[in-house]
Amino acid sequence: MAETVPQTAGPRWTGTNWAGNITFAARELHRPGTLDALRALVADAARVRVLGSGHSFNPIAEPGAHGVLLSLDALPAEVDVDTAARTVRVGGGVRYAELARRVHAHGLALANMASLPHISVAGSVATGTHGSGVGNGPLAAPVREVEIVAADGSTVVVGRDDPRFGGAVTSLGALGVVTALTLDLEPDYRVEQHLFTELPLDGLDFEAVAGAAYSVSLFTDWGAPGFRQVWLKRRTDQPLAAFGWAAPATVALHPVPGMPAVHCTEQFGVPGPWHERLPHFRAEFTPSSGQELQSEYLLPREHALGVLHALDGIRETVSPVLQTCEVRTVAADEQWLSPAYGRDSVAVHFTWVEDTAAVLPVVRAVEAALEPFAPRPHWGKVFEMPAAVVRGRYPRLGDFTALVRELDPAGKFTNAFVRDALGS
Ligand SMILES: Cc1cc2nc3c(=O)[nH]c(=O)nc-3n(C[C@H](O)[C@H](O)[C@H](O)COP(=O)(O)OP(=O)(O)OC[C@H]3O[C@@H](n4cnc5c(N)ncnc54)[C@H](O)[C@@H]3O)c2cc1C
Repeated sequence: MAETVPQTAGPRWTGTNWAGNITFAARELHRPGTLDALRALVADAARVRVLGSGHSFNPIAEPGAHGVLLSLDALPAEVDVDTAARTVRVGGGVRYAELARRVHAHGLALANMASLPHISVAGSVATGTHGSGVGNGPLAAPVREVEIVAADGSTVVVGRDDPRFGGAVTSLGALGVVTALTLDLEPDYRVEQHLFTELPLDGLDFEAVAGAAYSVSLFTDWGAPGFRQVWLKRRTDQPLAAFGWAAPATVALHPVPGMPAVHCTEQFGVPGPWHERLPHFRAEFTPSSGQELQSEYLLPREHALGVLHALDGIRETVSPVLQTCEVRTVAADEQWLSPAYGRDSVAVHFTWVEDTAAVLPVVRAVEAALEPFAPRPHWGKVFEMPAAVVRGRYPRLGDFTALVRELDPAGKFTNAFVRDALGS
């Protein structure tokens, strides 16, 4: 996140997201060092949003020029592992890299991770962030309890047995400040990455390929039909299926063709701890900013082949502004605003070049091509779909809106993005 010089008129603080494509304007940025200070700030403010690690590509975290932006990075980085219960309580500002390191040190593991470990846990689950795997739900799936500082500064705890839980985790930051999450863990496991090249689209058995390992990613630049790379992440406690559809990679690969693989996690089937294989990128490589934009859509997995052929049909439009396209799977979950809500999903992700004007028309072309399959956009990425269409894809939206009204009756945590999402 880049910050700029304080201004004398208008917003007193401006800063950008990680990618630099969004400038946030706020009255103030606060970094409370204690929970009491945080509660007082929330109770006193008229408008509040939290900035996690700033890795979203749209104005979802925007507080508005008169609002307060809160960063939780000065709070103690709580990671309390309960080995007997196999759970971890993690503070609202902690990132996955730190969480994973501490969980692993206790001989335990998370079920899955996203491509990058530098993102915050609370910010990730708020937007429905996911990894891959036909049996793996989004990163919110292991969350069993959420602790929220609500609009009046009081603490609300929502656990799995609470009827409000379906709205409490993937909440777009609209309910309050998430100060802690409790997650289920499992015994430590090891993972190997096996990479393959040039998987044809013609004759693709998507279900077999997507199910060939614990986590599977297909990459293409859409310069030609089919996939340039296949990444199989195999748990060593599960069998290694024969993969006869593509040739094994002979050199280490980066998902973006031509980029050096030095920052990528270990490949060539070398077994290693789960948190050093499930992300594509190493935790010790810290990108301060990214020269890219991203979009992603989740669609019913049963339509995966139709989705891929629809994209192949517009690849000459897509490829000139594309760095890489990644295809993953996400198991259905029950968070009301999760893009995987109630649908086993195929997720098609696009890492675009860093040129908003050139990218947006292509985003619209992708959305038009995917429309017959009822896409739900990733809440943390660039999308152009009309808000009313997005809202129509969420059958429990009314329940979520009622929960927002209950916890935040004056709309303290609302911004333009949330108003679009909720239609109010
Ligand atoms: C290089 C890169 C790789 C990525 N890889 C993946 C991937 O593999 N899979 C995937 O699904 N997505 C991926 N993403 C997208 C990313 O996971 C999401 O944008 C995610 O929200 C980032 O978390 P963050 O903490 O940076 O969130 P931010 O952008 O900071 O915030 C997102 C939302 O969460 C809210 N929020 C954050 N913290 C709190 C809190 N404590 N309390 C209340 N609200 C809060 C914010 O207000 C905002 O509404 C990637 C992004 C990048 C830049």
